[in-house]
Amino acid sequence: MSGATGPGTGREEKEERPVRVAIDTDVCIGAGQCALLAPDVFTQDDDGFGTVLPGREDGGGGTLVREAARACPVRAVTLGAPAGP
Ligand code: SF4
Repeated sequence: MSGATGPGTGREEKEERPVRVAIDTDVCIGAGQCALLAPDVFTQDDDGFGTVLPGREDGGGGTLVREAARACPVRAVTLGAPAGP
């Protein structure tokens, strides 16, 4: 017997799924790669540390946020599942 494959289970493998973006401020060293790569999602505060722009915690639906997470030299950018309703 095969398992159920009902509607809603066949998601397309796109990288544009929403994510929950966060920066671990204890780890961030202010390298600025995140703001450089995804300026629509990240910025730097007055001290140069990375921060997520207000309202962009969903990553803006773009793939650049994944690049930014990858590029962070100290892995301070975390991408998690979005908070469900
Ligand atoms: S790339 Fe990483 S270390 Fe650099 S500002 Fe962004 S979160 Fe901080």
